[in-house]
Amino acid sequence: NRRRKPDIDSLVEGVLAGDRGRLAMAITLAESRAEQHQAPAQELMRRILPHTGGAIRVGLTGVPGAGKSTFIESLGTFLCREDKRVAVLAVDPSSSITGGSILGDKTRMEELSRHSNAFIRPSPSGNSLGGVAARTREAMLLCEAAGYNVVIVETVGVGQSEAKVRTMTDFFLLLQIAGAGDELQCIKKGVIELSDAIVVNKADGDNRIKAEQAKVEYARVLHFLHPFTPGWKPRAMTCSALHGEGVDSIWKVVETFRDEMSASGVLQKRRSQQNVDWFRSLLQQAVMQRFSSMNADCIEEMEIAVGEGKVPVSVALSELLKL
Ligand code: GDP
Repeated sequence: NRRRKPDIDSLVEGVLAGDRGRLAMAITLAESRAEQHQAPAQELMRRILPHTGGAIRVGLTGVPGAGKSTFIESLGTFLCREDKRVAVLAVDPSSSITGGSILGDKTRMEELSRHSNAFIRPSPSGNSLGGVAARTREAMLLCEAAGYNVVIVETVGVGQSEAKVRTMTDFFLLLQIAGAGDELQCIKKGVIELSDAIVVNKADGDNRIKAEQAKVEYARVLHFLHPFTPGWKPRAMTCSALHGEGVDSIWKVVETFRDEMSASGVLQKRRSQQNVDWFRSLLQQAVMQRFSSMNADCIEEMEIAVGEGKVPVSVALSELLKL
């Protein structure tokens, strides 16, 4: 099957008709690294591009156990009932300790996955986070061409993946839980600065009051931070993903964000800049790869010389660039 030439006409037609089977095949093609798939994948992206851009793109992050899958299940089914079409994608940094996927292994979002208005795509496999994130952007565009009007890109709040997801979404939501250790809060400061909303989850039962207190605390922190989105005051909220409470008000905030930021032009500007940045980072990668493979021997020699302190780094660099 892999060796067969992909039928682009049929894929494009299927995607535009919102056929989930062919959408999944199209995403697989776009994710493929095989040499013979690059040209057809480009043809596919070229043809669907005019049909993209129609979704609100929501990034979601939070530490493992914060309730991300439960939240997406809850928000997703709410949106499906409202006649929205919801696609869920994941950028999974993979655990460097286990070598395995953090997001993909368990059976997740069972109810949502059965809904005909929903499309859930497990995270692509890849060795570099940048590579995985690039494929996720293409998956997102394909989902938009297929008529999904909400795309949720989920990632685990460990390391660099949040920043990647921020660069491909309109609205960025940080899911928190009350009473996580102080060390954790520290690590997440950088992520707080990226967020358009912080939602304290599990605001139910005995945990409700603690969650409300945490919300007030986050609101105070947000008040002192420079907002990531110009003209938007980041919100702090609570919800119970498990009981579906607060999910509708969170969605109202996302819609308010979309309306206000479209009216002010911030959203269009953000998307346009995101495309340029995406292009630049791929260009950088490609040029670097080509340069490295063409000059592998010289680079190695220079590395040894620099390592032994025999050649100044600046000299080694300009020698290499002369090649
Ligand atoms: P993820 O790792 O961030 O995707 O977290 P999960 O969605 O798998 O949730 C982790 C655990 O927290 C599960 O046992 C959920 O049932 C539980 N959980 C998620 N949301 C809530 C909530 O709103 N209230 C309560 N009490 N538990 C929740």
